[in-house]
Amino acid sequence: MRDGERLAQLEARDSGRLLNDAKAQITFVAEWFNYYAGLADKYTGETISTDQKDMLVYTEPVPVGVVGVIVPWNAPLLLMAWKVAPALAAGCTIVVKPSDYTPTTALAFGELLSESGLPKGAYNVVTGFGPAVGQAITAHPGVNKVAFTGSTATGISVGKSAMTNLTRVTLELGGKSAQIVFEDADIEAAINGIMNGIFIGTGQTCIAGSRLLVHESLHDSLVSELVARARKIRIGSPVDSMTQMGPVVNKIQHDKVLDRIETAKLEGATVECGGGVPPGLEGWFVEPTILTGVRPEMEVAQEEVFGPVLAVMKFRTEDEAIALANNTKYGLAAGVWSQNVHRVHRVARSLRAGTVWINTYRAYSPAAPFGGFGLSGLGRENGIEAMRAYCETKTVWVELAGSTRDPFSIR
Ligand code: NDP
Repeated sequence: MRDGERLAQLEARDSGRLLNDAKAQITFVAEWFNYYAGLADKYTGETISTDQKDMLVYTEPVPVGVVGVIVPWNAPLLLMAWKVAPALAAGCTIVVKPSDYTPTTALAFGELLSESGLPKGAYNVVTGFGPAVGQAITAHPGVNKVAFTGSTATGISVGKSAMTNLTRVTLELGGKSAQIVFEDADIEAAINGIMNGIFIGTGQTCIAGSRLLVHESLHDSLVSELVARARKIRIGSPVDSMTQMGPVVNKIQHDKVLDRIETAKLEGATVECGGGVPPGLEGWFVEPTILTGVRPEMEVAQEEVFGPVLAVMKFRTEDEAIALANNTKYGLAAGVWSQNVHRVHRVARSLRAGTVWINTYRAYSPAAPFGGFGLSGLGRENGIEAMRAYCETKTVWVELAGSTRDPFSIR
């Protein structure tokens, strides 16, 4: 890919995300644009059959108009592509506000879109701070839709601001996703999925599998294996190809993650590994941290940490596991690890989460809808569902008989 290396370098240097990870995300960006380019001329209206034989009724999707795209710092380009690709395919124009911490890839991508022949003015980038520039977009009467990814608190204020003009919104917000490991799980696969779920991106992902719910018979052995692997994670510079976990994005996030760990300790959690700053490294690094003895009411079991911190809880029965998993105001994702085909579908059906992964974690496709229940968001991104979010539906009625109607009758 011609510009992949440059975009990945910009992304890694801006956000602290691993260069390897950023490169993988750039390939996703290309896939998303490819998918929506293909969908653009296939997303159509329909002819509606009614009981009125002299009427032709059909619908047409109409671009919603100007779309304000507001994205955070954890995966700026990919999360922007999730919005810009379907919005362009629907025929909308776009104003992007990247996070003030990570604005470079939205700007660099704009250069590429100009080069591609996209009409001038179809894609615009405005940089600046959220409360000033973001708020100016969400409250602007000329913006017809806001597509936002970020924290739940900011998402709610974005929604309120947009509602003053009935601006359409989709919100992709926080999470406290549970990974449930049953006694009949393939343990090696589960360990990989748990590590991936919580330590990729230094835990700064909305779908981080930040709660581990494990059957009591496996608890001690699984925790000790996870601790052994967490201690071996290579922490370092995000642009070093050997690094497995980089720093968090900035000092604010660093302080917040360490503060959440301190609160967990005060509330009675046991630090099995990590819990602080790795020695000998300069930067906003946090050790991969595993906490046991977590109770459902603790802050670390309820609030998004957005860092490499895994909160472990035990369960005895399937019902208990489901109740623990659903004991959250969020509902973005969940992972289920079991080799019992009946159980995995039964549990998936009972979980209140927008995405449930069975014996895998963090699988994506542009074709698969993504979004949250509860305080994890509003609406869906990706798939055909995303096209609906960037279109209004127009219904057209055509009189076919050439006759006139009694003006005082509604039939
Ligand atoms: P925010 O949700 O505040 O920021 C996300 C985006 O919204 C950024 O572009 C930000 O701009 C913008 N923004 C901020 N305030 C407003 C506003 N009033 N109106 C419109 N746009 C606004 O996330 P933070 O960066 O402040 O992170 C705070 C916490 O949120 C993190 O500690 C983490 O826990 C969580 N988070 C969750 C994410 C997720 O995907 N679930 C993603 C990022 C953070 P700017 O950055 O320039 O201020």
